[in-house]
Amino acid sequence: MSTSEPAAGSDGVDITATQLLVGGELVDGAGASSDVVDPAIGDVIATIATASAGQVDAATAAAARAFSTYSRTTPAERSALLHTIADLIEEHSAELAALESLDVGKPWPSAHDDEMPLTIDTYRFMAGAARTISGVAAGEYVEAHTSMIRRDPIGPVAAIAPWNYPLMMAAWKLAAPLAAGCTVVLKPSEITPLSTLRLAALLADVVPPGVVNVVHGDGPTVGERLINSAAVEAISITGSPATGMAAMRAASQQIRHVHLELGGKAPVIVFDDADLDAVVQTIREGSFFNAGQDCAQPCRIMAQSNIYDDLVSALGTAVSDVAVGHPRADGVEMGPLVSSAHRDRVAGFVDRARAGAEVVTGGAAADGPGYFYAPTVVADADNDAEIACSEVFGPVVSVSRFADADEAVAAANAGRYGLASSVWTADTGRAMDVTSRLRYGFTWVNTHGVATPEMPWAAMKGSGTGCDMSVFSLESFTAVRHVMFAH
Ligand code: NAD
Repeated sequence: MSTSEPAAGSDGVDITATQLLVGGELVDGAGASSDVVDPAIGDVIATIATASAGQVDAATAAAARAFSTYSRTTPAERSALLHTIADLIEEHSAELAALESLDVGKPWPSAHDDEMPLTIDTYRFMAGAARTISGVAAGEYVEAHTSMIRRDPIGPVAAIAPWNYPLMMAAWKLAAPLAAGCTVVLKPSEITPLSTLRLAALLADVVPPGVVNVVHGDGPTVGERLINSAAVEAISITGSPATGMAAMRAASQQIRHVHLELGGKAPVIVFDDADLDAVVQTIREGSFFNAGQDCAQPCRIMAQSNIYDDLVSALGTAVSDVAVGHPRADGVEMGPLVSSAHRDRVAGFVDRARAGAEVVTGGAAADGPGYFYAPTVVADADNDAEIACSEVFGPVVSVSRFADADEAVAAANAGRYGLASSVWTADTGRAMDVTSRLRYGFTWVNTHGVATPEMPWAAMKGSGTGCDMSVFSLESFTAVRHVMFAH
């Protein structure tokens, strides 16, 4: 059963858009019901019917049918569609941000002011980039034969998004394939589906039938059915490494393209000539944004030995001051974690760390309803400790020491992940040297977390196989084709 009225505890936010989008039609789910919980108070705010197996199949079949016409549209037509989607989201940004804040527990100003601009700009960037796709120059590589290279859309895409930035991740999953001429079946996280289901209702009016389909449900049922569908030709996932592995297994059965953006554990390498005030300010803002539930979160702080004590002391003071509270309350900088299970998981990491490290501030769940956990700094962590190497995905940073650049690079590169990283130093030569040796998809120097659609959100190692945003993401939804003319 889908809810038709705002439920108690929903802060008056309208949760009436709970249908799936299949082949251009908005339909009630015919699968099991799934509860949506407000993490700030722990109450169920919506019960939404998920997609049945038949509805997942209908969505992939619709995407396959629509591909035959959508893949033949001109770049200008696809660009116009992406601009329309961007305008629609902008027009409804307050409503969508309210749903996002309610569903994920994000402070209202972040959901609206910080996340919405990049979400909208992702569509606008891809609207422009759609018109730049080209093959390399034609030529005669064999006598009396002319070759040309085409870049054609790769096929219908199964796209799966995580719960931490639902609407922004939907943008990253949708904009590039749509720009390339691919049709999409998108599944939001079952934990935070509200903004994506509202987006589906908005898209139903502007997107040709079957070009975008949205199905709701959990990973083992709806997600597995989607990625194993014979009708899709690429699988695009943002999520945990375990889900990436499931995608690779599915892809191996039918030989599919896989586009994976997975977990991260971002080192923040701070040399003794760095501007420590800037480091502390960036950690205070960036590590606790979205309650630390961010794949690029600056979370693994590595300090050169002679500034280690000063940095730990300044971080302890700054982090203890982060304002935690209800997402709608004035002045709140950090809301709850997304679920009680996730809060327990985060607490488990900190509790296990206590044996070999010191909790400088935080380290406890808050009393009362909601899934709050105090902003936490764990110091004296060994470089190979669990707290320094595993993705906690919560409001927790660890601090460890290094002696010189070689030790810092070796420790940072030893982890399983390869997504975000940052280097802090006043010495440009040292920054050049260290950034060139880090095995991470992106590295900031003297900042952390600044994103723009022109630049790739790139993954290496256990963090994935490709990137979101930028023309590189666009290209990954195209196939390189060779056409040869004899004459
Ligand atoms: P998750 O892997 O549990 O779930 C992600 C999505 O995959 C959900 O929609 C889920 O239903 C689906 N899913 C789960 N199992 C599946 C299966 N077997 N088959 C098909 N679909 C399945 O991840 P999460 O907990 O929602 O998100 C947190 C993770 O996402 C973290 O590891 C985080 O670092 C990562 N993340 C990465 C990026 C990036 O850009 N690299 C961005 C945001 C989040």
